[in-house]
Amino acid sequence: MPELPEVESLRSLLDNSVVGRTIVGGRIGKKPLRRHVTRDFIADVKGHRIERIARRAKYLLIELSGGLVIVAHLGMSGSLTHRDGNAGSFGLDPAHDHAEFALDDGSRLVFNDPRRFGILRLMARERLSTLKELEALGPEPLGAEFSADYLAGKAHGRKVAVKNLLMDQRIVAGIGNIYASEILFRAGVRPTRRSGRVTRAEIERIARAVPAVLGEAIEGRGTTFRNYLDSRGEPGRFASKLLVYDREGEPCVQCSTPLRKVVVGQRASFYCAKCQR
Ligand SMILES: [Zn+2]
Repeated sequence: MPELPEVESLRSLLDNSVVGRTIVGGRIGKKPLRRHVTRDFIADVKGHRIERIARRAKYLLIELSGGLVIVAHLGMSGSLTHRDGNAGSFGLDPAHDHAEFALDDGSRLVFNDPRRFGILRLMARERLSTLKELEALGPEPLGAEFSADYLAGKAHGRKVAVKNLLMDQRIVAGIGNIYASEILFRAGVRPTRRSGRVTRAEIERIARAVPAVLGEAIEGRGTTFRNYLDSRGEPGRFASKLLVYDREGEPCVQCSTPLRKVVVGQRASFYCAKCQR
């Protein structure tokens, strides 16, 4: 599943490649996505210029002229690729191209989603803050609002495992399963620790590890996922830098102890029993 670094990498690529282009047409596939895409979607965006590509948590916000915004979520398996006139389908099955926007330079912006858990929604930009999915989200992990003080406040007195606290989108928006394991390894804290028992020094290490890990992942354009490709159709390169995720039994990079796997909140979590307390 694409996580925040993948979506941010995609945002930045699209921000460089499609801003300034005008949507001249397109088509919406017949099969529904997670949310029904309105039939007049294309007619409504036609003639509008793409002004900016923004992001909130894992939602891409394609801001259009006339005060409109396309809210896109890649779901489990979605990708949004920018294809010029000659480009093929980047190895993606064209049967899963569920939405396509034709741009004025002959290129296309294509939303492909085999499992159809994605969201594509058009709304007035001024109504964005009323969108239920965005309303409940906590602060951005790379923003100034997220700090050790903030995290300490949220962890205080809580029995929930610290990994689940980090993955709670109401507390901080956009940290998923893979990066939560990586962040806790970096901070030296076991994923199963009760949030309320995590010390102030550990909270500070976690709060530092969050932007460090996500920032490095964004540099590497995210991790390679089964169906994740960036807007140029290229896979991310961060997978080789994952230190614990999906490495059960492999030696810890710091101490060589075989890494362990534990299920926390129904999600596989990976840690080093020696380096993480
Ligand atoms: Zn270790």
